[in-house]
Amino acid sequence: MKKITIISLSLVVLFLLLPGIVDRLKNPLVHESLPELTAAGLKFHKTLFVADLHNDFLLWNRNLLKSYSYGHTDLPRMRKGNASLQVFSSVTKTPRGLNYHSNSDKSDMITLLSIIQRNPVDTWNSLLERSLYHSLKLHRYEKESQGELLIIKSKKDLKQFLFKKRKEKKIIGALLSIEGAHALEGKPENVDKLYQAGFRMFGLAHFFDNEVGGSAHGENKGGLTKFGEDLIKEMNKRHIIIDLAHSSDRVIDETLTLSQAPVVVSHTGVKGTCKGQRNLSDQQIKSITKKGGLIGIGLWGDAICGESVVDVVKAIKYVMNLVGVEHVALGSDFDGSVKTAIDVTGLPYITQELLNQGISKEDIKKIMGGNILNFLLANLPAS
Ligand SMILES: [Zn+2]
Repeated sequence: MKKITIISLSLVVLFLLLPGIVDRLKNPLVHESLPELTAAGLKFHKTLFVADLHNDFLLWNRNLLKSYSYGHTDLPRMRKGNASLQVFSSVTKTPRGLNYHSNSDKSDMITLLSIIQRNPVDTWNSLLERSLYHSLKLHRYEKESQGELLIIKSKKDLKQFLFKKRKEKKIIGALLSIEGAHALEGKPENVDKLYQAGFRMFGLAHFFDNEVGGSAHGENKGGLTKFGEDLIKEMNKRHIIIDLAHSSDRVIDETLTLSQAPVVVSHTGVKGTCKGQRNLSDQQIKSITKKGGLIGIGLWGDAICGESVVDVVKAIKYVMNLVGVEHVALGSDFDGSVKTAIDVTGLPYITQELLNQGISKEDIKKIMGGNILNFLLANLPAS
Protein backbone atom coordinates (compact mmCIF):
# COMPACT_ATOMS: atom_id res chain seq x y z
CA MET A 1 0.00 0.00 0.00
CA LYS A 2 2.76 2.38 1.10
CA LYS A 3 4.76 1.58 -2.02
CA ILE A 4 1.77 2.36 -4.26
CA THR A 5 1.24 5.72 -2.51
CA ILE A 6 4.89 6.64 -3.02
CA ILE A 7 4.74 5.66 -6.69
CA SER A 8 1.53 7.65 -7.29
CA LEU A 9 2.95 10.65 -5.45
CA SER A 10 6.13 10.50 -7.52
CA LEU A 11 4.05 10.32 -10.71
CA VAL A 12 2.05 13.38 -9.66
CA VAL A 13 5.25 15.31 -8.85
CA LEU A 14 6.77 14.25 -12.19
CA PHE A 15 3.61 15.36 -14.02
CA LEU A 16 3.74 18.74 -12.27
CA LEU A 17 7.44 19.20 -13.02
CA LEU A 18 7.32 17.90 -16.60
CA PRO A 19 6.37 21.14 -18.41
CA GLY A 20 9.32 22.94 -16.79
CA ILE A 21 11.68 20.08 -17.60
CA VAL A 22 10.63 20.01 -21.27
CA ASP A 23 10.93 23.81 -21.48
CA ARG A 24 14.46 23.74 -20.00
CA LEU A 25 15.57 20.98 -22.36
CA LYS A 26 14.05 22.57 -25.46
CA ASN A 27 15.23 26.16 -25.03
CA PRO A 28 18.84 26.07 -23.83
CA LEU A 29 21.75 28.45 -24.27
CA VAL A 30 25.00 27.40 -25.90
CA HIS A 31 28.07 28.54 -24.12
CA GLU A 32 29.75 30.31 -26.98
CA SER A 33 32.21 33.08 -26.26
CA LEU A 34 30.57 36.47 -26.65
CA PRO A 35 32.25 39.66 -27.84
CA GLU A 36 33.49 41.91 -25.06
CA LEU A 37 30.74 44.36 -24.29
CA THR A 38 32.17 47.87 -24.11
CA ALA A 39 30.65 50.68 -22.04
CA ALA A 40 30.13 52.66 -25.26
CA GLY A 41 28.48 49.66 -26.97
CA LEU A 42 26.06 49.11 -24.11
CA LYS A 43 25.30 52.81 -23.86
CA PHE A 44 24.51 52.94 -27.56
CA HIS A 45 22.36 49.78 -27.32
CA LYS A 46 20.28 51.44 -24.62
CA THR A 47 19.41 54.28 -26.97
CA LEU A 48 17.99 51.87 -29.58
CA PHE A 49 14.43 50.78 -30.30
CA VAL A 50 14.96 47.02 -30.39
CA ALA A 51 12.40 44.84 -32.16
CA ASP A 52 12.20 41.17 -33.07
CA LEU A 53 9.98 39.34 -35.54
CA HIS A 54 9.62 35.90 -33.97
CA ASN A 55 9.33 34.37 -30.50
CA ASP A 56 7.56 31.19 -29.35
CA PHE A 57 7.28 32.08 -25.65
CA LEU A 58 3.51 31.55 -25.65
CA LEU A 59 3.96 27.81 -26.17
CA TRP A 60 5.42 27.38 -22.70
CA ASN A 61 4.13 27.43 -19.15
CA ARG A 62 6.12 30.44 -17.96
CA ASN A 63 4.55 33.66 -16.70
CA LEU A 64 5.78 36.46 -18.98
CA LEU A 65 5.79 38.91 -16.07
CA LYS A 66 8.17 36.84 -13.90
CA SER A 67 11.87 36.29 -14.24
CA TYR A 68 13.16 32.76 -14.92
CA SER A 69 16.57 31.12 -14.93
CA TYR A 70 15.74 29.09 -18.06
CA GLY A 71 14.24 29.65 -21.50
CA HIS A 72 15.02 32.81 -23.45
CA THR A 73 12.35 35.39 -22.73
CA ASP A 74 10.33 37.10 -20.01
CA LEU A 75 9.44 40.72 -19.38
CA PRO A 76 12.09 41.37 -16.69
CA ARG A 77 14.78 39.93 -18.96
CA MET A 78 13.42 41.82 -21.97
CA ARG A 79 13.83 45.05 -20.03
CA LYS A 80 17.44 44.15 -19.22
CA GLY A 81 18.14 43.53 -22.90
CA ASN A 82 16.29 46.71 -23.92
CA ALA A 83 13.83 44.72 -26.03
CA SER A 84 11.18 47.20 -27.14
CA LEU A 85 8.80 45.30 -29.39
CA GLN A 86 8.32 41.56 -29.80
CA VAL A 87 6.23 39.54 -32.21
CA PHE A 88 4.85 36.60 -30.20
CA SER A 89 3.95 33.64 -32.35
CA SER A 90 1.42 30.90 -31.71
CA VAL A 91 2.75 27.41 -32.48
CA THR A 92 -0.15 24.98 -32.80
CA LYS A 93 1.16 21.75 -34.27
CA THR A 94 4.56 20.09 -34.61
CA PRO A 95 5.07 16.62 -36.09
CA ARG A 96 6.86 13.84 -34.25
CA GLY A 97 10.42 13.31 -35.48
CA LEU A 98 10.47 16.89 -36.70
CA ASN A 99 13.18 17.58 -39.29
CA TYR A 100 13.99 20.12 -42.00
CA HIS A 101 13.53 17.77 -44.98
CA SER A 102 10.19 15.98 -44.94
CA ASN A 103 7.40 15.77 -42.36
CA SER A 104 3.91 14.35 -42.65
CA ASP A 105 0.97 16.12 -41.04
CA LYS A 106 -0.20 12.94 -39.32
CA SER A 107 1.37 13.27 -35.88
CA ASP A 108 1.38 16.14 -33.41
CA MET A 109 3.47 16.73 -30.31
CA ILE A 110 1.57 19.82 -29.12
CA THR A 111 -1.38 17.65 -28.07
CA LEU A 112 0.82 15.96 -25.47
CA LEU A 113 2.35 19.27 -24.41
CA SER A 114 -1.15 20.80 -24.01
CA ILE A 115 -2.10 17.91 -21.73
CA ILE A 116 1.02 17.92 -19.55
CA GLN A 117 0.77 21.69 -19.27
CA ARG A 118 -2.84 21.25 -18.14
CA ASN A 119 -4.03 23.75 -20.76
CA PRO A 120 -7.82 24.11 -21.23
CA VAL A 121 -9.40 20.91 -22.58
CA ASP A 122 -10.62 22.77 -25.70
CA THR A 123 -7.00 23.18 -26.75
CA TRP A 124 -6.22 19.47 -26.68
CA ASN A 125 -7.88 18.76 -30.01
CA SER A 126 -8.24 22.10 -31.76
CA LEU A 127 -5.47 24.08 -33.40
CA LEU A 128 -7.69 27.16 -33.53
CA GLU A 129 -8.36 26.90 -29.78
CA ARG A 130 -4.64 26.68 -29.14
CA SER A 131 -4.08 30.01 -30.88
CA LEU A 132 -7.05 31.58 -29.13
CA TYR A 133 -5.61 30.37 -25.81
CA HIS A 134 -2.20 31.88 -26.66
CA SER A 135 -3.94 35.19 -27.37
CA LEU A 136 -5.87 34.95 -24.09
CA LYS A 137 -2.62 34.37 -22.20
CA LEU A 138 -0.94 37.40 -23.79
CA HIS A 139 -3.97 39.58 -23.07
CA ARG A 140 -3.91 38.43 -19.43
CA TYR A 141 -0.25 39.40 -19.15
CA GLU A 142 -1.06 42.75 -20.70
CA LYS A 143 -3.77 43.35 -18.10
CA GLU A 144 -1.63 42.20 -15.16
CA SER A 145 1.37 44.20 -16.35
CA GLN A 146 -0.32 47.47 -15.37
CA GLY A 147 0.55 49.24 -18.56
CA GLU A 148 4.06 47.82 -18.99
CA LEU A 149 3.06 45.47 -21.82
CA LEU A 150 0.97 46.76 -24.72
CA ILE A 151 -0.47 44.57 -27.45
CA ILE A 152 -0.36 46.37 -30.78
CA LYS A 153 -3.15 45.72 -33.28
CA SER A 154 -3.08 48.81 -35.50
CA LYS A 155 -1.03 51.75 -36.69
CA LYS A 156 -2.92 53.83 -34.15
CA ASP A 157 -1.93 51.47 -31.29
CA LEU A 158 1.66 51.55 -32.48
CA LYS A 159 1.79 55.34 -32.54
CA GLN A 160 0.24 55.51 -29.05
CA PHE A 161 2.76 52.95 -27.81
CA LEU A 162 5.66 54.98 -29.22
CA PHE A 163 4.28 58.12 -27.61
CA LYS A 164 3.98 56.40 -24.20
CA LYS A 165 7.37 54.76 -24.53
CA ARG A 166 9.06 58.12 -24.97
CA LYS A 167 7.98 58.99 -21.43
CA GLU A 168 8.12 55.52 -19.90
CA LYS A 169 11.06 53.66 -21.28
CA LYS A 170 10.20 50.31 -19.67
CA ILE A 171 7.00 49.77 -21.68
CA ILE A 172 7.24 46.86 -24.12
CA GLY A 173 5.11 46.34 -27.22
CA ALA A 174 3.80 42.98 -28.42
CA LEU A 175 2.26 41.79 -31.67
CA LEU A 176 0.49 38.44 -32.12
CA SER A 177 1.19 36.08 -35.00
CA ILE A 178 0.46 32.47 -35.86
CA GLU A 179 3.13 30.01 -36.94
CA GLY A 180 1.32 28.13 -39.68
CA ALA A 181 -2.12 28.81 -41.14
CA HIS A 182 -3.27 25.31 -40.13
CA ALA A 183 -4.52 27.23 -37.05
CA LEU A 184 -7.43 28.19 -39.33
CA GLU A 185 -8.38 24.49 -39.53
CA GLY A 186 -9.23 25.03 -43.20
CA LYS A 187 -12.17 27.34 -42.42
CA PRO A 188 -12.28 30.84 -43.93
CA GLU A 189 -14.47 32.08 -41.07
CA ASN A 190 -11.64 31.43 -38.61
CA VAL A 191 -9.66 34.32 -40.13
CA ASP A 192 -12.09 36.62 -38.39
CA LYS A 193 -11.83 34.72 -35.09
CA LEU A 194 -8.06 35.08 -35.11
CA TYR A 195 -8.29 38.72 -36.19
CA GLN A 196 -10.73 39.45 -33.36
CA ALA A 197 -8.31 37.72 -30.98
CA GLY A 198 -5.65 40.23 -32.02
CA PHE A 199 -3.55 38.28 -34.51
CA ARG A 200 -2.04 40.63 -37.09
CA MET A 201 0.57 38.38 -38.71
CA PHE A 202 0.01 34.89 -40.13
CA GLY A 203 2.86 32.57 -40.96
CA LEU A 204 1.50 30.43 -43.80
CA ALA A 205 3.43 27.28 -42.96
CA HIS A 206 5.29 25.46 -40.26
CA PHE A 207 6.86 22.00 -40.58
CA PHE A 208 4.31 20.21 -42.79
CA ASP A 209 2.15 21.00 -45.84
CA ASN A 210 -1.21 22.39 -44.72
CA GLU A 211 -4.58 23.49 -46.16
CA VAL A 212 -3.01 26.74 -47.39
CA GLY A 213 0.01 25.36 -49.20
CA GLY A 214 3.40 23.70 -49.01
CA SER A 215 6.00 23.87 -46.29
CA ALA A 216 9.76 23.90 -46.98
CA HIS A 217 9.80 20.81 -44.75
CA GLY A 218 6.62 19.14 -46.01
CA GLU A 219 6.21 15.94 -48.00
CA ASN A 220 5.11 17.64 -51.24
CA LYS A 221 6.38 21.22 -50.85
CA GLY A 222 3.68 22.40 -53.28
CA GLY A 223 2.29 25.83 -54.09
CA LEU A 224 -0.72 27.72 -52.75
CA THR A 225 -4.06 25.91 -52.73
CA LYS A 226 -7.28 27.68 -53.71
CA PHE A 227 -7.88 28.20 -49.97
CA GLY A 228 -4.38 29.64 -49.74
CA GLU A 229 -4.97 32.07 -52.62
CA ASP A 230 -8.22 33.23 -51.05
CA LEU A 231 -6.43 33.63 -47.72
CA ILE A 232 -3.75 35.88 -49.25
CA LYS A 233 -6.47 38.13 -50.70
CA GLU A 234 -8.35 38.22 -47.39
CA MET A 235 -5.15 38.99 -45.45
CA ASN A 236 -4.37 41.85 -47.86
CA LYS A 237 -7.88 43.20 -47.39
CA ARG A 238 -7.60 43.11 -43.60
CA HIS A 239 -3.94 44.26 -43.49
CA ILE A 240 -2.82 41.06 -41.79
CA ILE A 241 0.91 40.68 -42.42
CA ILE A 242 2.00 37.63 -44.42
CA ASP A 243 4.96 35.71 -43.00
CA LEU A 244 6.70 33.32 -45.41
CA ALA A 245 9.05 31.67 -42.91
CA HIS A 246 8.93 27.86 -43.38
CA SER A 247 7.01 28.19 -46.68
CA SER A 248 7.94 26.08 -49.70
CA ASP A 249 9.77 27.74 -52.61
CA ARG A 250 6.58 27.57 -54.68
CA VAL A 251 4.46 29.20 -51.97
CA ILE A 252 7.05 31.98 -51.66
CA ASP A 253 6.97 32.67 -55.44
CA GLU A 254 3.19 32.43 -55.76
CA THR A 255 2.52 34.61 -52.72
CA LEU A 256 4.87 37.30 -54.01
CA THR A 257 3.00 37.29 -57.31
CA LEU A 258 -0.41 37.41 -55.69
CA SER A 259 0.02 39.65 -52.66
CA GLN A 260 -0.63 43.38 -52.94
CA ALA A 261 1.23 43.99 -49.67
CA PRO A 262 4.88 43.40 -48.79
CA VAL A 263 5.67 40.28 -46.74
CA VAL A 264 8.05 39.31 -43.96
CA VAL A 265 10.12 36.20 -43.49
CA SER A 266 10.04 36.41 -39.73
CA HIS A 267 12.85 34.03 -38.80
CA THR A 268 15.27 32.58 -41.28
CA GLY A 269 18.82 32.15 -42.41
CA VAL A 270 20.25 32.86 -45.84
CA LYS A 271 21.89 30.37 -48.19
CA GLY A 272 24.67 32.90 -48.86
CA THR A 273 26.14 32.19 -45.41
CA CYS A 274 24.44 28.90 -44.55
CA LYS A 275 23.06 26.41 -47.06
CA GLY A 276 20.02 24.93 -45.40
CA GLN A 277 16.61 23.65 -46.40
CA ARG A 278 14.74 26.56 -44.82
CA ASN A 279 17.18 29.33 -45.71
CA LEU A 280 16.54 31.90 -48.42
CA SER A 281 18.39 31.95 -51.73
CA ASP A 282 19.76 35.21 -53.13
CA GLN A 283 16.99 35.19 -55.73
CA GLN A 284 14.33 34.83 -53.02
CA ILE A 285 15.87 37.60 -50.93
CA LYS A 286 15.84 39.85 -53.99
CA SER A 287 12.25 39.12 -54.99
CA ILE A 288 10.94 39.42 -51.41
CA THR A 289 12.65 42.74 -50.78
CA LYS A 290 11.96 44.20 -54.24
CA LYS A 291 8.36 44.34 -53.06
CA GLY A 292 9.26 46.02 -49.76
CA GLY A 293 9.66 42.82 -47.73
CA LEU A 294 11.59 42.38 -44.52
CA ILE A 295 13.87 39.50 -43.55
CA GLY A 296 14.34 38.49 -39.91
CA ILE A 297 17.63 36.75 -39.22
CA GLY A 298 17.47 33.92 -36.70
CA LEU A 299 19.91 33.20 -33.89
CA TRP A 300 19.97 29.40 -33.93
CA GLY A 301 22.52 27.01 -35.42
CA ASP A 302 20.60 25.67 -38.42
CA ALA A 303 19.76 29.19 -39.61
CA ILE A 304 23.26 30.64 -39.41
CA CYS A 305 25.55 27.58 -39.48
CA GLY A 306 27.13 28.53 -36.20
CA GLU A 307 26.13 29.40 -32.70
CA SER A 308 27.71 32.77 -32.06
CA VAL A 309 26.60 36.36 -32.53
CA VAL A 310 29.40 36.65 -35.11
CA ASP A 311 27.43 34.21 -37.30
CA VAL A 312 24.23 36.24 -36.78
CA VAL A 313 25.99 39.41 -37.90
CA LYS A 314 27.50 37.60 -40.90
CA ALA A 315 23.98 36.77 -42.15
CA ILE A 316 22.72 40.30 -41.43
CA LYS A 317 25.61 41.79 -43.38
CA TYR A 318 24.99 39.40 -46.26
CA VAL A 319 21.41 40.62 -46.67
CA MET A 320 22.52 44.24 -46.26
CA ASN A 321 25.10 43.90 -48.99
CA LEU A 322 22.72 42.09 -51.31
CA VAL A 323 19.60 44.26 -51.06
CA GLY A 324 20.24 47.14 -48.67
CA VAL A 325 20.04 47.69 -44.93
CA GLU A 326 16.33 48.63 -45.01
CA HIS A 327 15.31 44.99 -45.50
CA VAL A 328 17.00 43.20 -42.62
CA ALA A 329 15.85 42.71 -39.04
CA LEU A 330 16.09 40.35 -36.09
CA GLY A 331 13.99 37.18 -36.01
CA SER A 332 15.48 35.43 -33.01
CA ASP A 333 13.12 32.43 -32.63
CA PHE A 334 13.71 32.75 -28.89
CA ASP A 335 11.89 29.97 -27.00
CA GLY A 336 11.27 28.22 -30.32
CA SER A 337 12.86 24.92 -29.21
CA VAL A 338 16.23 26.22 -30.35
CA LYS A 339 19.68 26.65 -28.85
CA THR A 340 20.99 30.19 -28.99
CA ALA A 341 24.16 31.97 -27.87
CA ILE A 342 22.17 34.56 -25.93
CA ASP A 343 18.82 34.91 -24.25
CA VAL A 344 16.95 38.21 -24.59
CA THR A 345 19.27 39.90 -22.04
CA GLY A 346 22.11 39.33 -24.52
CA LEU A 347 20.75 41.57 -27.29
CA PRO A 348 23.45 44.19 -26.54
CA TYR A 349 26.02 41.66 -27.79
CA ILE A 350 24.47 41.81 -31.27
CA THR A 351 24.72 45.60 -31.25
CA GLN A 352 28.31 45.30 -30.06
CA GLU A 353 29.23 42.83 -32.81
CA LEU A 354 27.60 45.06 -35.46
CA LEU A 355 29.73 47.95 -34.14
CA ASN A 356 32.83 45.72 -34.04
CA GLN A 357 32.26 44.81 -37.70
CA GLY A 358 32.16 48.45 -38.70
CA ILE A 359 28.44 48.91 -39.34
CA SER A 360 27.40 52.54 -38.93
CA LYS A 361 25.21 53.59 -36.01
CA GLU A 362 22.54 54.74 -38.46
CA ASP A 363 22.42 51.28 -40.03
CA ILE A 364 22.46 49.51 -36.64
CA LYS A 365 19.41 51.53 -35.59
CA LYS A 366 17.56 50.15 -38.62
CA ILE A 367 18.72 46.56 -38.19
CA MET A 368 18.00 46.36 -34.46
CA GLY A 369 14.42 47.62 -34.73
CA GLY A 370 13.94 50.67 -36.95
CA ASN A 371 13.10 48.56 -40.00
CA ILE A 372 10.44 46.54 -38.16
CA LEU A 373 8.95 49.72 -36.78
CA ASN A 374 8.72 51.28 -40.24
CA PHE A 375 7.27 48.08 -41.71
CA LEU A 376 4.53 47.92 -39.07
CA LEU A 377 3.77 51.62 -39.37
CA ALA A 378 3.24 51.10 -43.08
CA ASN A 379 1.43 47.77 -43.06
CA LEU A 380 -0.77 47.30 -39.98
CA PRO A 381 -4.49 48.12 -40.17
CA ALA A 382 -5.12 51.82 -39.61
CA SER A 383 -7.12 51.47 -36.40
ZN1 LIG B 1 9.75 28.50 -36.80
